Amino acid sequence: MGSHGDIGGTNESLVKMPTIKFTKLFINGEFVESISGKTFETIDPRNGEVIARVAEGDKEDVDLAVEAARAAFDHGPWPRMSGAERGRIMMKFADLINQNVEELAALDSLDAGKLFSLGKTIDIPGAAETIRYYAGAADKIHGEVLKMSRPLHGYTLLEPIGVVGHIIPWNFPSTMFSLKVSPCLAAGCTMIVKPAEQTPLSALYYAHLAKLAGIPDGVLNVVNGYGPTAGAAISSHMDIDKVSFTGSGEVGREVMKAAAASNLKPVSLELGGKSPIIIFDDADLDMASELALMGILFNKGEVCVATSRLYIQEGIYDELVKKLVEKAKAWAVGDPFNPEVRQGPQVDKRQFEKILSYIEQGKKEGATLLTGGNRVGNTGYYIEPTIFADTKEDMQIVKEEIFGPVLALMKFKTTEEAIQRANNTKYGLAAVVVTNNLNVANTVSRSVRAGSVWINCYLAIDNDCPFGGYKMSGFGKDFGMDAVHKYLQVKAVVTPLHNSPWL
Ligand code: NAD
Repeated sequence: MGSHGDIGGTNESLVKMPTIKFTKLFINGEFVESISGKTFETIDPRNGEVIARVAEGDKEDVDLAVEAARAAFDHGPWPRMSGAERGRIMMKFADLINQNVEELAALDSLDAGKLFSLGKTIDIPGAAETIRYYAGAADKIHGEVLKMSRPLHGYTLLEPIGVVGHIIPWNFPSTMFSLKVSPCLAAGCTMIVKPAEQTPLSALYYAHLAKLAGIPDGVLNVVNGYGPTAGAAISSHMDIDKVSFTGSGEVGREVMKAAAASNLKPVSLELGGKSPIIIFDDADLDMASELALMGILFNKGEVCVATSRLYIQEGIYDELVKKLVEKAKAWAVGDPFNPEVRQGPQVDKRQFEKILSYIEQGKKEGATLLTGGNRVGNTGYYIEPTIFADTKEDMQIVKEEIFGPVLALMKFKTTEEAIQRANNTKYGLAAVVVTNNLNVANTVSRSVRAGSVWINCYLAIDNDCPFGGYKMSGFGKDFGMDAVHKYLQVKAVVTPLHNSPWL
């Protein structure tokens, strides 16, 4: 395929390619066509070819799914059964996912260009583990007894919030599905999931497995479709009680507006980022360079926490940059089914063109292109690992989320300067600090305004670790018990003690 350690060619013989079994909408426990009969194409980013046509849901289909979810919430068994029973069914759901790992991983690789080797070892088993984590939480949801100041007995009940709409992006289709759906199931809610239009296939497969596991009809519905139609119908729906959204800031704003203009439903927003990685003079340069490259090239840079702004302390700048460039040039770009490849194609043509136009913008703004900057090959949406030096915080490539394999390098002198520049952004999703000096690590992690701080590591996401943004990266946490509380509401119950008058 050309330069940059690229590995072309499809290694499909190593993998049993999946037959596409599920392409309809999943409403009330059945796969159904959309009311309009319309379908849309889902595209293979390796070559731009159509993988399958998928039913295109619109407002009327969302209405049907909400009707089913409403009935399942108001009258069905799911919110009424014990947490232990919900947990048992969720455990079965997780087991079924483990039994279908290869097929699910292949669907995400086909739809999103994700590395198959990581899908089958991390994304899909990880999705099953997330469901197990929340299955274990389902029977541990309880309120508290209140210490009232008067002769009153008071306690709180934590009740499921109701019907939830989940609107999710394409970059981690399985992780996103499981991290939204599992705490919501554990809480006893019912739901409608709208996968991103680029990656509908694994969500439909999960719906099929949920039914096999015994999740009652109407509890989990999947409506594929476009954002302004199916997505907007969810955020403006009068009978949806909560929207949990992951995606871009612009769309997050639209979701919030629609929620406010309809039934004032609460929303949680997991949005974009422009995360800093700060590498201090005392860092091990091999480790630091590997971490910095993973931070920008993992999942081809289509990661909300991608560390796209690299601040290097002046004493190691030249040596570290040399290593980064050497390693980036050798980074294997190519078919995501090939186990030797480290970077697959960008998700679609639109994203591919957007990234290339940011690269052109970087050159125009006066940044120095050290390596990369071009597409790889002539087919598919592959882009070279790209590194710019001489960048400044007021350049577009430093200010805006590119969501691709494009790294901006900057030099700093002091810890105070690094903190000030790291915080010079509208975003606040994550930050990475690389140092062996505990005082420096502690100072930076307490001063940086970001929802996750990773010291000497990257993407240290865990089921037990709350994840979500500060500032314009959104609000509301995924993972950890915080995520269950997103789908619960607190009821206070009070009664007088000893027949005392209540006033
Ligand atoms: P996007 O905002 O374009 O789309 C996200 C979802 O919203 C899709 O399902 C889309 O169909 C839907 N949507 C689009 N318009 C809508 C509307 N008007 N009303 C309701 N729904 C609508 O984002 P994207 O391009 O799919 O994903 C990339 C963005 O997501 C990046 O900004 C990235 O940082 C962010 N992201 C954030 C996290 C996180 O956890 N913070 C994780 C992954 C991605």
